Amino acid sequence: MPIEPVTGEPPIPVDSPEDVAVLVEHLARGDRDPAWLGDHFAYLAGTRPQWFQPYQEQVVDGLLERFEVAFDDQCQLLAGAPDACVQTLARRLRDSQDFHDALALSAIGTGAALTAIAEDVRNGGDREIYEDSGIRIPSTGPAEPRFSPHRRAVFLEPGDFPDAEHPVGLPIDRVVADPSSSPVVWHYLSLRLADVPGLPAWPAERAHLAAPASTGRWTVFAESGADGRYHGEQVVDEDEPDDDEFTDEPDFGRGRVLLRPYGPDLVYSNGHVHTTPGLVGTAGGPPIGLYPNPSCPSCKRLMFHAVTVSSMVREHGDGPRSLYLCEDCQTVAMTATGWN
Ligand SMILES: [Zn+2]
Repeated sequence: MPIEPVTGEPPIPVDSPEDVAVLVEHLARGDRDPAWLGDHFAYLAGTRPQWFQPYQEQVVDGLLERFEVAFDDQCQLLAGAPDACVQTLARRLRDSQDFHDALALSAIGTGAALTAIAEDVRNGGDREIYEDSGIRIPSTGPAEPRFSPHRRAVFLEPGDFPDAEHPVGLPIDRVVADPSSSPVVWHYLSLRLADVPGLPAWPAERAHLAAPASTGRWTVFAESGADGRYHGEQVVDEDEPDDDEFTDEPDFGRGRVLLRPYGPDLVYSNGHVHTTPGLVGTAGGPPIGLYPNPSCPSCKRLMFHAVTVSSMVREHGDGPRSLYLCEDCQTVAMTATGWN
């Protein structure tokens, strides 16, 4: 069964619109564990999000506090919800700030919702909740999602794939223009951006997610040339640098990643799909939301989330590794964070 509730209780089927009605009845009655229900809603988000549409208003009106669904899944389930939902959420946010309401408004993502978000922040609402979720609030005009609504599950395949679309473990001279002076020493993966719908235009076919020697937390900014190689790499926000020499074996962990749409073959557990065998992350969709997202060092615009994978994609450090783009400045940010 692709639904493996973290509560240990057996799952129930989510194979028809009638099954979804049963889930929403449980949510309304409050007679099942919200985390157990949440794994079913995550499955629905990954398979048939359109079946949730008849319940958007009911859930927004009175059930959000029990709706234990991660933001990236909410983006699938609440996308395009009617303006009545937006008005309800905006009214509640004017009365009192609540992150459930702010996230639901972000997940709806319509023009009305993005206008309401901008008004909320300009009226003193919590900007950080939105920006950590990948929503930019400019000084004028509506808010702007800085992520694609389209998600792709990222699967690792170890091996030798010289013509891989999304290679893992490239020699560093394929990643940066000047390896001798670059702080970047370790390649996690390269993403062929055209394979993730909704990513911004980019000067090169691929963008790279790579690392400095540090196994702690860091952010690396770099500019992309037309050949895809980076220059001007700068490490910022680094944990105290490791004293040890960088000794990771350059041939270790080579392979490729494959991108697949979300679907019934993933394992939905504990509000995510990370226990799916071979899955290492997600391309597209919002950032993970636990950390501030980088702003472009040149133009200061919140950067566009491209992909987040586990460091297990090619072991170096421990935690999520993310790639962000500023399409205007052709600048990337690569980040290493912890699990929580
Ligand atoms: Zn920029």
